[in-house]
Amino acid sequence: MSGAATAQQSSRFARIGAGLRAALHAGLDVALPPLCPACREPVRDTALCPAWWAKLWFIAPPYCERLGIPFAYDPGPGILSMQAIADPPAYNRARAAVRYDDVARKLVHGLKYGDRMDLAPMIGRWMIRAGHELLGDADALVPVPLHWRRLWTRRFNQSAALAEHIARESGIAVTHAALKRVKATAQQVGLSRKDRATNVQGAFKVAPDARPEVAGRRLILIDDVLTSGATSDACARALLRAGAAQVDVLVFARVVDPGKAPI
Ligand SMILES: [Zn+2]
Repeated sequence: MSGAATAQQSSRFARIGAGLRAALHAGLDVALPPLCPACREPVRDTALCPAWWAKLWFIAPPYCERLGIPFAYDPGPGILSMQAIADPPAYNRARAAVRYDDVARKLVHGLKYGDRMDLAPMIGRWMIRAGHELLGDADALVPVPLHWRRLWTRRFNQSAALAEHIARESGIAVTHAALKRVKATAQQVGLSRKDRATNVQGAFKVAPDARPEVAGRRLILIDDVLTSGATSDACARALLRAGAAQVDVLVFARVVDPGKAPI
């Protein structure tokens, strides 16, 4: 056998080997139980083990009608928080499933960087429960977009993945092309409230050809985490400028006490 033919054959074997390895990996993924994203222990029916599930802090009424921030006591229906009165957001209402703390952060990181796409249906269902009033009067879901460069390195947008799951179970359509991130902004982590607002200023736009998907429609922005609200606010402004009738915000986790936000 000539040297060239041997080389060709061994490269073919290498390809078959790679294919077999991929098939074995796929098989192992099915056979092994998934791991809890918080403690890495195997879990059976749920995506989160009972110990960590108990530590998740679900947000429930009473909360500020506008910002969805929980109140320590019930001030009566329709009462707004001081924050909502002093610094009203561009969006109409915000709702979150859980407080952003250590457990929520682990879930978000799993979804964002750890290839834990299996968490999306569970998180999506929690978001549907938290945002049922918003979903009751919405025409479409708009995921907060990533800049194409970040999308390129991370491969997928976790907000779009969550929106897809919420759409599947709520029957409300997702408009992926409505909003574009036109500025690659610095990470919001570590920035002050004011710097966060400046950082995302002018970062989002509705393309002229996407206006029909926005004008006159009641939209819900979908994101994983709401920290200062600067990103949601910038998105809402862009959608309202393009003629949206109403913009609400639905996130998985929100910072309740900004001074104690985990990074
Ligand atoms: Zn666990």
